[in-house]
Amino acid sequence: MVFGIDVGGTTVKIGMIENKQLIDKFEIPTNKDTLFKDICLFLKDYIKRNSIQSLEGIGFGLPGNVIHNYIYNLPNVGLKNIDLEAEISKYFPDVPVAAQNDANVAALGEMLYNNEYQNACMITLGTGVGCGIVLHGKVVEGSHGAAGEVGHMGIATEYNFECTCGLKGCLETVASATGIVRLAKYHYHEFETKLKNPYTAKDVFDLAKQNDPLCCFVVDKVAYYIAKCISILAVVVDVDVYYIGGGVSKAGKLLIEAIQKHYEKLSHYAVKKVKIESARLLNDAGMLGAAALI
Ligand SMILES: [Zn+2]
Repeated sequence: MVFGIDVGGTTVKIGMIENKQLIDKFEIPTNKDTLFKDICLFLKDYIKRNSIQSLEGIGFGLPGNVIHNYIYNLPNVGLKNIDLEAEISKYFPDVPVAAQNDANVAALGEMLYNNEYQNACMITLGTGVGCGIVLHGKVVEGSHGAAGEVGHMGIATEYNFECTCGLKGCLETVASATGIVRLAKYHYHEFETKLKNPYTAKDVFDLAKQNDPLCCFVVDKVAYYIAKCISILAVVVDVDVYYIGGGVSKAGKLLIEAIQKHYEKLSHYAVKKVKIESARLLNDAGMLGAAALI
């Protein structure tokens, strides 16, 4: 058995995986001060209760900067500078441990589920915008753990909104959940709309489905910038498929079709036929991908 652990800002998803199948899953709260202790004690208890004989490893998807199993920064959890292997070996001394950024493991999980591809990217649209890149079945980590940080690709220069990273015009400033609300506010007085304060990205998508002029304009802009990002990725990594996941992607067909429409115009001729699809695994991608690191 392999454990696949997907650590989020508020909850930790724990998956039990055998032969690439998720056979059991649990959630525990993310507690900054006792995070790895809580996880390990939960696993020990599970192993005992279920008389697990062999544990092949523990894989982690972590929300932040991780290089070679060393955690530099998990801003949403509030942890920095942790040697993950040392931490886990206090409870599981001889068990292999592997960790990656959560966007990377989600991409790996999604790719394994649709196992017709070896090369894939998954763009996650949520509080921020993340991306995992999988080439030849392996996650691309990069020399600084920043491979796939497309949320900070400086392509929304028409607006140049300030980003949390300190730069301006990052994709995240227009395509994350907060970015979508920001765009709607920016254009609020230019179009008719039924959008009422306070509103969320979901409200924008819901009204766009009813042909609300402002919301249709905003969704089209968001789709344009995501398509632009994919058109750049496509001539760098040239993968088979781009999965769109995360909370914002629940807008589904409306968003995917708008991205495809813009991508058609923006992309280089050699990469026009790539697939752009909704992620299918939703909440389980992280656990399956984390386990696949082992
Ligand atoms: Zn940024």
